[in-house]
Parts: sequence; C-alpha cells; structure tokens
Amino acid sequence: MKSLVLFSNDLRLNDNEAINAAVKSYDLSTFVFVFDKSLYEDTHGSANLWWLEKSLKSLKDRLKDKNICLHIIKGEYVSKILDIVKKNDFQSVFLNQNKHPSFISKEKKLEKELSKISVKFYSFNNTNLSEPDSIFNKSGEPYKVYSPFYKHCKSVYNQKEVFDFPKKIIHTYEIDDDFIDVSEIFSKYGNNWSEKFNKYWKPGEIEAHKVLELFLRKSISNYKEDRDFLGTLGTSRLSPHLHFGEITSNQIISGFEFHADHNLNKHEEHFIKELYWREFAYYILFHFPYVTKKPFNKKYENFEWSKNYHSNLDKWKKGITGIRIVDAAMNELWETGYMHNRTRMITASFLTKNLLIPWQEGEKWFRDTLLDADIANNVMGWQWVSGCGTDAAPYFRIFNPILQEKKFDPDNIYTKKWLKNFDDYIEDGKEDLFNGNNLMKPIVDLGISRNQALERFSRIK
Ligand SMILES: Cc1cc2nc3c(=O)[nH]c(=O)nc-3n(C[C@H](O)[C@H](O)[C@H](O)COP(=O)(O)OP(=O)(O)OC[C@H]3O[C@@H](n4cnc5c(N)ncnc54)[C@H](O)[C@@H]3O)c2cc1C
Repeated sequence: MKSLVLFSNDLRLNDNEAINAAVKSYDLSTFVFVFDKSLYEDTHGSANLWWLEKSLKSLKDRLKDKNICLHIIKGEYVSKILDIVKKNDFQSVFLNQNKHPSFISKEKKLEKELSKISVKFYSFNNTNLSEPDSIFNKSGEPYKVYSPFYKHCKSVYNQKEVFDFPKKIIHTYEIDDDFIDVSEIFSKYGNNWSEKFNKYWKPGEIEAHKVLELFLRKSISNYKEDRDFLGTLGTSRLSPHLHFGEITSNQIISGFEFHADHNLNKHEEHFIKELYWREFAYYILFHFPYVTKKPFNKKYENFEWSKNYHSNLDKWKKGITGIRIVDAAMNELWETGYMHNRTRMITASFLTKNLLIPWQEGEKWFRDTLLDADIANNVMGWQWVSGCGTDAAPYFRIFNPILQEKKFDPDNIYTKKWLKNFDDYIEDGKEDLFNGNNLMKPIVDLGISRNQALERFSRIK
C-alpha cells in the first residue's frame, strides 16, 4: 500500500500531520514537492521565491539524512500529481493545506479528480490553530473585529497535539520522473541582487527553532514594550519561518501554558496575541476572500485616490521620499527583505494617507520584496493602515512620521543604520528655509497632504 506525501508551504519534518498520518497507515511513502512555475510565480513574490528555494534545499537535506528522497518535480500542480498517482498506482495522497486562495482551488480540484479514480485524499490544517469555519459570534456571524475574536479563541483554546517526526523507519517508494534541482526555483535565473539576504537569514526548520529559542531567551521578557522600538531586537523575526511552515504556531504556543485562565505575564500573552493576529488574518481571508483585491469595508471602494502617482510611488519604493524614517525603512526592506512592524505601519500610512496612493500598490511592492510576504497578513496590514479593513485604524488616524521617529527611534539608531546619507535629511521633515542647499526635500508637505486625505475620507464617511 503506497501513499504520496505532498509539500507546499509546510517545509518541516516535525508537527507535520500529513507525514505522520501517511506513515502510520501505509507501508510505503513517497515525498514530493511539485513546482508549478506559474502557480508559484503568481502566488510568491521574488523574495519569497529566494526563501522557498533555500528552505526546500534544507528540507531535502534533512530528509536525505534519514535516507528519504524528496522528489522535486516541475509541472502543473493537479495534472502532474494525477499523472504520478496513476503511473505509480498510489492508493492515497496526504497533504497539509496551503491557505493561499490559488492553492485552495488547486487542492479542491485535486481532491475531486482523485475521487474519480478512487484514490483517497487526506488533508490537514496545520497552518492555523483552529478551523476558520468553526468560529462565529453569538449571532452566528464571522467575527469582524480582532479583540472579540481573540477572546473567543482564548476561551475555547485546547492545545493540539504537536507531532514529532515518526520514530519508526520509513520505507520509501522511488518514483521515476523528470526531477529538477532546487535552483530551478530561483537562483538559476541570475537574481544576484538577492545575495545580500544570506547575511541576514538562514531558511529552514532547524534555524526556525533556533530563532524561537533566541527570542524566548533574550527578548520575550520585555516584548510588549520593546516590540515597538526600532533600535532594539524586540521581536521574534519568525515571520518568514512561519510563512513557509518551517515552524507552526501550534509548536510555538505549546511552549506556553495558554488557556482561558492562563497565568502568563503581559509580555508572553502579547506575543501570543500577535500570533492570533496572524490567525485573524487567515480567518478574514477565509470568510471574506474578496479582501485580496477590494477593501473589506466596501464603502472605501469609492475613495478618491491620487491619479498621477507613478513618480511618487517610484520614490517611495526607492526610499527617496525625503522623509527620514520612511526612507530608512524602505532601505531596510530592500537590503534585508524584512521591515520592522512599526515602520511597515509608518511607510504604509505615508503611501496611502500622505501620497494618496492606493493601498493595493503598496501591498504589491511588499508582496514582491518581503521574505515573509503572506497574502493574509499583508492584505490585512495594508487595509488596517489605510483605514478600509477590519479593525481599521480610523481614517483620521494618520501616522505622523516625524513624531513616530521621535517616539520609536529617539536616538536614531534605526535611521542611521539604514540611511547612508542620514546627514542629508532635514530633521523635522519640513522644507528648509534656506533653499539652495543639498538637503533632501520631502516630496510632499505632511500637513497639507494630511488635510487633503482627511477631507477625502470625510466625504465617504
Ligand atoms: C502594511 C503591513 C504589511 C504586513 N505584511 C506582512 C506580511 O506580508 N507577512 C507577515 O507575516 N506579516 C505582515 N505584517 C505583520 C507584521 O508586520 C509582521 O508579521 C511582523 O513584523 C513580523 O516580524 P516578527 O516575526 O518579528 O513579529 P513578532 O512581533 O515576533 O510576532 C510573531 C508573529 O506573529 C505574527 N504577527 C505579528 N504581527 C502581526 C500582524 N500585525 N498581523 C498578522 N500577523 C502578525 C507574525 O506571524 C509574526 O512572525 C504586515 C504589517 C503591516 C502593517
């Protein structure tokens, strides 16, 4: 009896329900990653693909150490898997669900096609702590606000089993196909610009656990305060590891005694609450799938965005807006494939509420450049800041980048780190009275643009 185990964004051996279930019930298993080029290029930005390749290589090596081959095969997701199943006479297919809408539809189609040929299909939700379709408010509607959602989740929380990689020897069945090397995913095509990421990141399951361990040892004890300060290492930096499923929220939470009457301190609970923002993002995506393209709050579809914005958008992307904290953050993103949460909010607010550029443009740029780019979290973050999402920052809350810098980077540790030309900036972001110098000039007046945004928002209240 043979089973096929498929990977996508669950690039780990432990807490992997698909592997455990397959190995428990079948004598022989085959481990496969199907690289559907157009599916991955549609759903993953360039930085994502860098991570995917490295993480897959690490998974392949880890499996090799256990004498298991990870077959990487190129082809259209559904037809390739059907072809493998039929040629090799597999009786079942196991996978952990990928929650990206494009993968959801491929997995549904696969399930349907497999049932036509009487092949069993088992899929597991290891991405989320609970099933989005099991959580509703008292009126039976999906929650639309984070706090009651979190309260509900906390009140019913039950630690799920954390699976270890099976201890028994796994017998594998070798298939014959046109295997590809991981380099086909990204590095084969040049992409020398991404070399710099090696300085900052090491993808893979082992590293994910090291990162968690370091965070628990060094940073969680003051997380609630430090997480906002740009010059500290106050957050976990687990986001790309979580995105690619090298570690699960289930594994992370299992390290805490989390339940309705827990005894966790404010820092520990705050960290868990952030994991629940991720849960909430997936929950919203599940119940309101249109959010990937349109505002959650539909009345904002009529918001009057700026029309000729391409030059300003370009300056924002390149980090040459003349606003110190914004430019530092855009440089951090370009250099490391990551941006601090506080500056994600500041740069997003500047783009949507000072430059009046549609949030979808910013979401697209983050999608291409963030290593942790994640459809649920990214869309929710952008809609939250621009004022059109769930729990949205009220339209009148416009981040003032100058005040934000003063508060969260008071000693300019962050701005000096990410701006080579720090001294070329005017401190308060205002137009210098003595023009004719070489100082950077803000591309927009923060006060005037703020009022313009408020006026446009008030029209659709
Ligand atoms: C405009 C904007 C875009 C964003 N795009 C993404 C994205 O593409 N991918 C992404 O993972 N996060 C995104 N976020 C959320 C957040 O900025 C990052 O998750 C966080 O900065 C990652 O750093 P960390 O792992 O050190 O976080 P920590 O503070 O250590 O938090 C732990 C984990 O909780 C989750 N988390 C934390 N904050 C949030 C949040 N606000 N929303 C959802 N989940 C959260 C993440 O998985 C994170 O790894 C975005 C936020 C904004 C404002």
